[in-house]
Amino acid sequence: MSDSLSPAPDPVPAPVQSGLFKAIQSSAGKSSAPAAPSYSDLLRDLRSGKVKDLELSLRQREVRVRFEDGRQTQVPVFSNDQLLLRSAEKAKVPLTVRDDRQDGAMAGLVANGLLVLLLLGGLALLIRRSAQVANRAMGFGSSKPRLQAEGSVAVRFEDVAGIAEAKEELTEVVTFLRSPEQFTAVGAKIPKGVLLVGPPGTGKTLLARAIAGEAGVPFFSMAASEFVEMFVGVGASRVRDLFRKAKAKAPCIIFIDEIDAVGRQRGAGIGGGNDEREQTLNQLLTEMDGFEENSGVILLAATNRPDVLDSALMRPGRFDRRITVDLPDRRGREEILSVHARTRPLAESVCLAEWASRTPGFSGADLANLLNEAAILTARRHQSKIDDSCLSGALERITMGLAASPLQDSAKKRLIAYHEIGHSLLTSLVPHADKLDKVTLLPRAGGVGGFARTMPDEDILDSGLISKAYLLARLVVALGGRAAEMVVFGPGEVTQGASGDLEMVSRICREMVTRYGFSNLGPVAFEADGGEVFLGRDWLRSEPHYSRQTGNRIDQQVRDLANGALDRAVAMLLPRRELMDQLVTLLIEQETLEGDAFRALVATYEATGKTNVQAAQVGL
Ligand code: ADP
Ligand code: MG
Ligand code: ZN
Repeated sequence: MSDSLSPAPDPVPAPVQSGLFKAIQSSAGKSSAPAAPSYSDLLRDLRSGKVKDLELSLRQREVRVRFEDGRQTQVPVFSNDQLLLRSAEKAKVPLTVRDDRQDGAMAGLVANGLLVLLLLGGLALLIRRSAQVANRAMGFGSSKPRLQAEGSVAVRFEDVAGIAEAKEELTEVVTFLRSPEQFTAVGAKIPKGVLLVGPPGTGKTLLARAIAGEAGVPFFSMAASEFVEMFVGVGASRVRDLFRKAKAKAPCIIFIDEIDAVGRQRGAGIGGGNDEREQTLNQLLTEMDGFEENSGVILLAATNRPDVLDSALMRPGRFDRRITVDLPDRRGREEILSVHARTRPLAESVCLAEWASRTPGFSGADLANLLNEAAILTARRHQSKIDDSCLSGALERITMGLAASPLQDSAKKRLIAYHEIGHSLLTSLVPHADKLDKVTLLPRAGGVGGFARTMPDEDILDSGLISKAYLLARLVVALGGRAAEMVVFGPGEVTQGASGDLEMVSRICREMVTRYGFSNLGPVAFEADGGEVFLGRDWLRSEPHYSRQTGNRIDQQVRDLANGALDRAVAMLLPRRELMDQLVTLLIEQETLEGDAFRALVATYEATGKTNVQAAQVGL
């Protein structure tokens, strides 16, 4: 091409280039152009008269050279370069000196000024900040309990389901506030404090918020932990402030959530004894005494650890009402499920009553979580409605953890299958045992190779009464896995896979002996209500209340119970080896057996001495 001399556009269209890349490219480009003359080149060119003029810059230590042929370039020089000056003079090349010191000085001045400004600004900011902190510390009186104006809370009583009694009692409390005359007329004292007690997730906070939404009176709420925050001495003043504000707004409700954070038993003194907390509690007690009867302020508090609360808080005249919020029963669970299903599209086939009966022991929060997980799963599967399979996927995930990929190793899989079939079979064989919900070989994250899930009996769960026969049955079922391994693979081949089972067995045995009097040591409770030791009250007393001999006998009883259960399990599985083999084959084939189908198989075998697995498979 002929136009190679014209200033051709860059042949490489490179619209976006990093600075570095650009630099490399341009220097590469220069290398093909005539190189900038070196210092010695410059001296030579000066002597041979090729240079038209020079311009020396005072600060930049380089000289700009203009050649006779119009080229221009810059050459680095020494500062105060005498040689160059003399050569230029000799060659009579005009030399101008550009005084850019002034600009530099100006720039320096500006930069320095900026720096000073910056420092001053920073300093001012620091001072302001520390002043704010000090303010916060000093004026702590003005803590901020959240005051909910009437009608600003969206939660209503209809959002709280399955805890009807608690709801009713709280509604009564609201009537106290709304029309106190009704009660005072007959000489009734309106309670000062109402304590909501119950396991986590049963809806205590929700209930309190519903009260705020419904009561039609001002509602102050604060978490107890907010009383005791950063500065010592603040808790007490916060309490004082909260009550002062509330009294000004009476009739009203003060709600303190998780009150155990400040209301713990005092005088423990372990770990330095939190004085701050004690002062806060003292202030709270004082305030509760301080407001006159029927002053129109009701203190509502919630906790799931009533056992750790200070006894002074619990005496009549303070929290004189205690409302228990329990885990919901089956009806309750159904109601809670339908409350949370209101906002979610359920497939018509879903029967919430059935799901209620599949979730014994679930709290309201668990149920809400179940529906939420099911909704997530539904979205992930690109379905528009939540169906039963999404719900069971969600239930599995909640109770067993995330699904892992299925096992390949068949020897290991067979062993797990026998273990789980051992558990499952015993649920059908032992009277009083929990019913099997499902047995599966689909592994779960966290090393669970498979599981046999039972469903606690609703009656037992609701009544809270546990019989000796029931616990014995649980022991046998729990040891069914180990027993199956022993029967099938021999006592030498048992695995550690049963460790979780053994832990549970030991716990049940120990409780049977030391707490329920289910052993021949007699009706003696050697240990108080389990739970974890509450630091500060029980710690010093955690010494056992029995002699060393008794301790030995307890241990012996625990072992006897466990051994007896294992023997029973083995005795039941041994004659049913054939049934176990068939069930294991079926389980490996199908990965999951549902409780009903499993029971049908076992029943057929027990009736005829044989199962027809093929026939059963068709029915599954
Ligand atoms: P806690 O008793 O621990 O204070 P929460 O009141 O915070 O429990 O409950 C947590 C969540 O669980 C609630 O926001 C609600 O979605 C759900 N939930 C718990 N109990 C119920 C219930 N009885 N009815 C409806 N939803 C409930
Ligand atoms: Mg709560
Ligand atoms: Zn097991």
